[in-house]
Amino acid sequence: MYDVCIIGAGVVGMNIARELSKYKLKICVLEKEDDVSCGCSKSNSGIVHGGYSDEPGTLKAELCVKGNQMYEQLETELHFGYRETGSFVLAFDVEEIPTLEKLYRYGMENGVGGLKLMDAAETKQHEPYLSDTVKASLYCKNAGVVSPYEFVIALAENAMVNGVELMLQHKVETIEKQGEGFLIGTNKKSIESRFVINAAGVYSDQISALAGDDQYNITPRRGQYVILDKDQNYLVNSVIFQVPTKLGKGILVTTTYHGNLMIGPNAEELGDKDDVGTDEKTLKYITETARKSVPGFNMKKALKSFAGNRPVSNKKDWVIEESRVKGLINLVGIDSPGLTSSPAIALKTVSILKEAGLVLESKLDFKAERRPIIQKKTADFAGVIDSQDPALNIICRCEQVTEAEIIDCLHRGIPVRSVDAVGRRTRAGYGRCQNAFCGSRIRKLIARELNISEEEVVEKGKGTSSLAQRAKRIVLTKM
Ligand SMILES: Cc1cc2nc3c(=O)[nH]c(=O)nc-3n(C[C@H](O)[C@H](O)[C@H](O)COP(=O)(O)OP(=O)(O)OC[C@H]3O[C@@H](n4cnc5c(N)ncnc54)[C@H](O)[C@@H]3O)c2cc1C
Repeated sequence: MYDVCIIGAGVVGMNIARELSKYKLKICVLEKEDDVSCGCSKSNSGIVHGGYSDEPGTLKAELCVKGNQMYEQLETELHFGYRETGSFVLAFDVEEIPTLEKLYRYGMENGVGGLKLMDAAETKQHEPYLSDTVKASLYCKNAGVVSPYEFVIALAENAMVNGVELMLQHKVETIEKQGEGFLIGTNKKSIESRFVINAAGVYSDQISALAGDDQYNITPRRGQYVILDKDQNYLVNSVIFQVPTKLGKGILVTTTYHGNLMIGPNAEELGDKDDVGTDEKTLKYITETARKSVPGFNMKKALKSFAGNRPVSNKKDWVIEESRVKGLINLVGIDSPGLTSSPAIALKTVSILKEAGLVLESKLDFKAERRPIIQKKTADFAGVIDSQDPALNIICRCEQVTEAEIIDCLHRGIPVRSVDAVGRRTRAGYGRCQNAFCGSRIRKLIARELNISEEEVVEKGKGTSSLAQRAKRIVLTKM
């Protein structure tokens, strides 16, 4: 019998797992995919938002500001990749300036520090490559960028070191109330747990319904992106938003944590929760809209496109509460700014569990630190292709990933089963050549280390769209 069973190994589920691993509890995480962070925690803008976008008094506003403030400490402990960059919301028309003023007021009420309304001249002093049509902006010093999937991997690794059991490829199919707890049936086995945490993203409505609470409905809202080469990142220093629309924060231009220029996302409501394809028409729309902010990027430098689905629910705010089915804690409709807020969402979930009767006794031997996988290369790094020394043997030329880093990521507790899963941990294959040089070298290494044949090493785990590459070709040839 587990004390707590968490369904979903995204950023919300894994923050909760890590937070609960500070206490003497028996905890498991059930995840249907073959890796952590395969839902929208993998495919988002990677922005740690300041906290001025959401209406004061909402959970989104409260937890975004609290979550933002927790990132620096988490980065110090877990080394996943986060830095404060600041952000701008741009107005291109005097009619948009009242929206900036409203966001400023929201920010002040929400307790966001470092906000400033700027005119065009001051804005362009900070960001010289912005369009000349910018009229004014709202600056937020506290916004930042994070490597979203590395964050989840780091949380998962650290939670496991502290005793959490992660069960990948365990899809929850049934949930039955059984006395004081639950019997949870998966495609592999059944487990018993006193509490169930529903952190299933776009499927959180269905998980809640399985347990007997069917009041939720999630409509996936897809957002598509294009990632460009690092040589385009001189164009922006911070995250560049436009004034928000009815459907969200609009198209942004940013430099990712690892230094690529990224544009997107749009917002389109879908019927299929798993459709993360990209298409030519949308990518053109994103490109044209992003050029309104930053006209000068070169689409010939596009590396790839990808998409993620926001879990938008039929409720106005996030649902983070014990369900009418006692012992089920629902986290439903955690759309943006869910990545930013996730550390604070975890604290809130722990206090809900405590109120519901879970006894929390601190572990004296909790290990807060997690070693990074990626080793920062300094100017004197002497790596070469085909060196006998794994620490110097370069497997991925574009991102300077060594054999030692890849070996390390394969032996950290989470089973790594695909070339793409190695990429998420080390960035091998994420550079200019997009796996053309290193794909077969990575496959060989995985096979050698896991003692399997090269044919058994898959390219991408389930849940990764192959359409992304097709769209990249469209962008390259037509724009
Ligand atoms: C386009 C886009 C842009 C965004 N940009 C930002 C941003 O810049 N900043 C920000 O703060 N937020 C952003 N967000 C929001 C953020 O990504 C989400 O709020 C956050 O990732 C939600 O995490 P999660 O763990 O709840 O969901 P997920 O990451 O989707 O995790 C849910 C997990 O549950 C698993 N699961 C589902 N059903 C089952 C089952 N039956 N059995 C077992 N496992 C199951 C899934 O496989 C998945 O791994 C963005 C989202 C999108 C889509």
